[in-house]
Amino acid sequence: MFKEIKRKITMFNTLILVIFMFMFIFLLGFLVNWSLTLSGEMYLTTVAKEIISNNGQTTAQPINSGDSVHDKFGYQFIMWDSSHVVKSMKVEDRNLIMLGYELAIEKKDAPQFNLLISDNVEYRVYTLPYSNNSNDYVLQVFQQISTERSIIAYVISFLFLIGLGSIAVLIPISYFLAGKSLQPIKDTFEDQKKFIANASHELRTPLTVIQTNVEVLKLKEDEQIKDNMKWLNNIASEGETMAKLISELLLLAQAENQRLAIDKEVFDISSMCQQMVELMTELANEKEIELSENISPGIQYRGDEERLKQAVRILVDNAIKYTPVGGKVQLCLVQGKRHLVIEVKDTGIGLTDEEKAKVFSRFYRVDDARNRETGGVGLGLNIADYIVKKHNGKIKIDSIPNKGSTFSIVLPKSNQKPDSKKNNIKGDTLK
Ligand code: ADP
Repeated sequence: MFKEIKRKITMFNTLILVIFMFMFIFLLGFLVNWSLTLSGEMYLTTVAKEIISNNGQTTAQPINSGDSVHDKFGYQFIMWDSSHVVKSMKVEDRNLIMLGYELAIEKKDAPQFNLLISDNVEYRVYTLPYSNNSNDYVLQVFQQISTERSIIAYVISFLFLIGLGSIAVLIPISYFLAGKSLQPIKDTFEDQKKFIANASHELRTPLTVIQTNVEVLKLKEDEQIKDNMKWLNNIASEGETMAKLISELLLLAQAENQRLAIDKEVFDISSMCQQMVELMTELANEKEIELSENISPGIQYRGDEERLKQAVRILVDNAIKYTPVGGKVQLCLVQGKRHLVIEVKDTGIGLTDEEKAKVFSRFYRVDDARNRETGGVGLGLNIADYIVKKHNGKIKIDSIPNKGSTFSIVLPKSNQKPDSKKNNIKGDTLK
């Protein structure tokens, strides 16, 4: 599909180029022709005046009109009297006398320019009727213009060759540039395809589990519910996974469409962190993980409390999920000169440098099998990163495999300036 678009863009660009090239050549040819005709006519007018002032006598010196091109071509002339007899002339091409005669007998009162062809040589002729001592004369001055024509033909064919050469060079360049400009669209398209495939896969898995468990329950229709709690718990847990996934997908879709509003208000970020510890204690206890805190009290921050809470919850949830039974997790809030830092430290499985670089990508999971057990689909950190970026902050990871990790949300304090409440920054989407 993209190859076809690339080919079409190249063809379109080439077509525009060819049209412009033809227009340019046509315009330039027209201008050269127009300027040579104009200067040629001016030359013939000057020569005619000179001949009349010499009373038809040819001068030994060629007339110098100041126009080097036309002076070089030279001129010929015939002066006819009122009975159409040649009074004087300077003619090298004898055919011109006959052609000039035909023009002279037409008897026109106004001066005029004509084009004549004699022996395949083209001439511009200026016919000037005038009177001298009550006698009427017609003066014809000729100049051959074949050289003028060949200059125009030469200029046009030269431009044509240059144009064809440029097109030959520009077609591959245009093809290459079309490819380059399509690359971001291609990447987004591939991303979307991957995203849809991943999302469908993630939704299908819990759905299959639910269907299988329902089938098992159908076979046990005579048994009591309490004897089949295992299957019901499976259904409930997969239902929960699906609900979480759907809400994450919804959030991603809103972010993609720039519709995810970030409502910034001043709130007590210390209390928010404190609440988070209380909220997650039960979950930590279930896994026999010691959840502690080191939160500086009373820190005010301007941001979207709900969204930041969601980001912190993702980090604490991950820390608990990826720390083995008996481990430790700590949530800290520290205030620096320019930044606020929310740290989530754990003594969990840790991450390698290679994994650290990938964890913010959508649907990325270090260990697919283990994560399925924990219910993660690989969207949490992507969402947390998006929320933090919307607050002009960033998430840093320090981690040692099998020792533990520290995920730090670094928020700039300058973010607290009192600007508009709704800050739905455009052009920053989840990747
Ligand atoms: P999930 O919902 O699968 O947890 P996340 O986007 O939150 O998705 O995390 C992506 C992956 O990063 C996880 O699947 C896990 O492999 C890894 N990860 C996240 N947090 C931690 C952590 N604290 N310790 C070790 N690995 C982690």
